[in-house]
Amino acid sequence: MVCVKEADLVDVDLYDDGSFPDFGFKQAPGAVAVLAALRGTGPIPMTGLATRRQLRAMGLRPGGHEPVARLIWRKGGRWAWLYRVDLAKPKRKPTLDQELALDKAMAARQTCPLCKRRYFACLLSKPSAAASNATTEHRQTPAATSRRRPRTSWPPDPTTNPTEQSPMALTLFTRRPAPAEPPTAEPEPWPEIGETWKPEGVTVVERYYNQAHAVVLVYTADDGKTGTYYAVACLGCHFASAQDGRRTYNTRYSLSDAAKAANEHATTCRALPRDIPARPDDDTVRERLRSWVSGARRRNEDVQLWLSDLALIRLTLQRTNDWIETALQQLASEEPDILLAEPSEYSGRMEFYALRFAAS
Ligand SMILES: [Zn+2]
Repeated sequence: MVCVKEADLVDVDLYDDGSFPDFGFKQAPGAVAVLAALRGTGPIPMTGLATRRQLRAMGLRPGGHEPVARLIWRKGGRWAWLYRVDLAKPKRKPTLDQELALDKAMAARQTCPLCKRRYFACLLSKPSAAASNATTEHRQTPAATSRRRPRTSWPPDPTTNPTEQSPMALTLFTRRPAPAEPPTAEPEPWPEIGETWKPEGVTVVERYYNQAHAVVLVYTADDGKTGTYYAVACLGCHFASAQDGRRTYNTRYSLSDAAKAANEHATTCRALPRDIPARPDDDTVRERLRSWVSGARRRNEDVQLWLSDLALIRLTLQRTNDWIETALQQLASEEPDILLAEPSEYSGRMEFYALRFAAS
């Protein structure tokens, strides 16, 4: 028997062989158990690896230990750190005092210095020259009132007789200072760049500011004939969203969905404002549409194309629905083997199909 001195003993760590492994979906140790716990079909595992979000969903936090591996997907295009579940600690609960302090801080950032109303989004800390005309900030959804008032009632039109307003509206308005200027017609210039931007083909409905005052837009490109859905785009980072991936059906954004998504993004995004995208020339847009059609083609079936699927890139296309339909019809006549355009039997509107690859 070999006598081992205590100083020679080494802690053997099953996960630590000095390498930094990459794992794919369900390949990391304990990944299946972690996924089961997240779905509520299993207990929270004692060992294994989990991402920070997975830990959070299980009520845990890394607790100061470094990631030990990476989870990669989309062929390495996306990845996340993996942490050891056995080293994770329970999530901390903020005390009531801490929550109160946080709420106070948020209230200070969300309350308009001019009208003293609290909004969902964080506002400019002090009214700048452009913002102090009390129009830009008031575009955002007020948090203090859940009922949506008709647009004509805010800002109050100074030409209408206040006694004609309903009693409810009267009490609301008497508590508020009158706006410094009468409302100006749409569109108003952006305070950051002092210029009016009305991208062709989309209607900008709401604008939010992120933490660095980049603009988060809520817009629609629908003409309303088949319903109106909305998309969100951040002009600071590259965030763009038109669907709620957590829902399984009816995933496209209603106005309130889009406003919520924009607001959520605006409160977390710190990207600096960027210049608005320049309007591309016609050939560039046609080429973009052609690659969209080619990318939609499948081996075994024809795929119907919807203009609404372009929602996320409408800010860079900057073309009307009519222009896009005309361009697609032109493409269909030039390259009938990749795109088919035909009028619908029911509505008479043009329908487009990306044609399956020809059997070779
Ligand atoms: Zn952003």
